[in-house]
Amino acid sequence: MIDRDILFQTLISKISSDFSKEGVLLIEKAYDFAKTAHEGQKRESKEDYIIHPLNVTLILSDLHLDAETYTAALLHDVVEDTNVTVEDISHNFGESVGFLVSGVTKLKDIRSVSSQEAQLENLRKMLLAMAQDIRVVLIKLADRLHNMRTLSFKSPEKQKETAQETMDIYVPLAHRLGIYTIKWELEDLSFRYIEPDKYYELASKVQRKRIDRESYVNELIAELQNLMKNQKINAEISGRPKNLYGIYRKMIRDKKQFEEIYDIMALRIIVDDIPTCYQVLGIVNNYYKFVPGRIKDYIALPKPNMYQSLHTTVITKSGEPFEVQIRTWEMHKHDEVGIAAHWKYKEGKNLDKEYEAKISWLRQMLDWQKEVRSSREFVERVKVDLFSEVVLVFTPKGDVIELPQGATPVDFAFKVHTNIGYNCIGARINGIMVPLETELKTGDRVNIITSKTTTGPKLDWLKFVKSASARSRIKAYFRKLYEEKKKETAVEINKASTVSKTLPSSKRKIEEDSFPAIDGLRDIKISVAKCCNPSSGDKIVGYISRGRGIKIHRVDCNNLYGIIERGGKVIPAHWVKGADKTLLSFFRITVWDVPGLIYKIAGIFAKRNLSFDNFHSSTRTDKKYKGHYQAYIRFSCSLSPKTPLNDILKEIENIPEVVKVKVTKRWSHEDSVAESEESSSDS
Ligand code: MN
Repeated sequence: MIDRDILFQTLISKISSDFSKEGVLLIEKAYDFAKTAHEGQKRESKEDYIIHPLNVTLILSDLHLDAETYTAALLHDVVEDTNVTVEDISHNFGESVGFLVSGVTKLKDIRSVSSQEAQLENLRKMLLAMAQDIRVVLIKLADRLHNMRTLSFKSPEKQKETAQETMDIYVPLAHRLGIYTIKWELEDLSFRYIEPDKYYELASKVQRKRIDRESYVNELIAELQNLMKNQKINAEISGRPKNLYGIYRKMIRDKKQFEEIYDIMALRIIVDDIPTCYQVLGIVNNYYKFVPGRIKDYIALPKPNMYQSLHTTVITKSGEPFEVQIRTWEMHKHDEVGIAAHWKYKEGKNLDKEYEAKISWLRQMLDWQKEVRSSREFVERVKVDLFSEVVLVFTPKGDVIELPQGATPVDFAFKVHTNIGYNCIGARINGIMVPLETELKTGDRVNIITSKTTTGPKLDWLKFVKSASARSRIKAYFRKLYEEKKKETAVEINKASTVSKTLPSSKRKIEEDSFPAIDGLRDIKISVAKCCNPSSGDKIVGYISRGRGIKIHRVDCNNLYGIIERGGKVIPAHWVKGADKTLLSFFRITVWDVPGLIYKIAGIFAKRNLSFDNFHSSTRTDKKYKGHYQAYIRFSCSLSPKTPLNDILKEIENIPEVVKVKVTKRWSHEDSVAESEESSSDS
């Protein structure tokens, strides 16, 4: 059992040099306050509860943060677990500390594994908190790390649940924030509880291999030290063990056995400045054989989380590949503490401008959340941008733009500016015109061609854009357009149907032989739309379809909105009686193709003195029954409204080889229409 006051002294001696007397006093006051508040409470480990916030603060002290953060870390559980309120905290320690504690308190651990929505909501809150003050998330990460370190005291179910959540949410967050020390430990601890067998097997193998290779690695280090000394370069060289989960992932990804993984260690060369980094890279690559394609310049092109280093893989004298990382001391510090490196340790100072600019992606999330409806949608979108690997491309001016992998020029356009996205009509990548759906690669220089006269974004873009911001902006554009169109349409339909209503006057009973008509229009083909199939008495409007006459829809037909949205015109229509009008009927009959069948069908029409036009038949060789293929027969027939169509249909249906009969009607002032039946989506 650790004495809490001894632990606190360890903390103070570790951080006191970073702070003024006031800073240390504030931290001491917070410790006393938290100790009193948690008095009598125990952890599952049977230790005093205060041991937990103390450890969380110790973890944070490795990141060299400010006094407010440590104060809030010491107090982070008092609001959750004791009677103390956020107001009490603000009153005693200031608004900032109050804000940090309330931020951490809001981010609850997940109580039930079944509630995925709760987990997503939690992540959403975390991302928003992060955008407001990233220190909230740093405290939360440290809190989670200590809870993971002490997870063995929890029940097996709780262990698995917490480990999985850590792997899903906290590991990617730590990665994105560039805090590798915390990320690796969280990752390995989660791995241990999620896949215990694999973890322990790998751990023992790695342990053995490390012992085996210790002398080999030491020889390599000595060799490099000599090399640097000869070139008069001041460098520190060390071996870095790779984390277990990293090795495991590599085995899975490259489908390799552990024995085939060489680089369970990386060599690290730390020098004073950037020119020396490149000089060392040259020396190393010249001395050993280097593996082509494995040299990575994260100094010229830092990772999105601001990681910088040069990487190269060389073949050592014994023929094994070995990764060497070259960096400055400043980069090295950054690699360990990530985003926290941008903190001024001194109290009273805020974040630097560069840092602010670099976390602009966090701010964007605040905007998106206004545009999306559910937590799930929000998280799904953010996950794409936050957790997936990224590509870095250049604007024509040379600014770096970060996009998710698979992003296209359209994503780029929206990232630069919403209006550039809306007016985008083409793109050049590295000077060459490309289709808008082209995938961007890191290093591409992208030039967006815009036009003020464009009709706006295309719906098709949604099929290929990758970034959440582009997607939500395109959707927002169409949502707005649709709402506007719908309003206009409603007015138009309403107008048309009011006129329609008055035309059949007050006559409610409509004769069977009535047909739809458009006032003032004669000699035009009128047919009823298949989608809503209006019959006499229904309120109707006419839609002028290009080249196909007028389609009659019911006023409540769902397709009307779409038709008008695509630019279709709707006009009033009504039912009129008229025995002199011709009804053009289109028959489509599915049959089993036996000899003489056509004559049977033709006979039904012949005995009524009707003839048919536009006869077509086609055979389906894939459908066969008792030696006969299935066939379709299509023809049209001009009928008067008095013709007993139902009798004709019944007679056709009674032919044993007939499978199905369909008929569509069209009214016309012409005697016959030399046009076969069309099948368009809008009718
Ligand atoms: Mn806690």
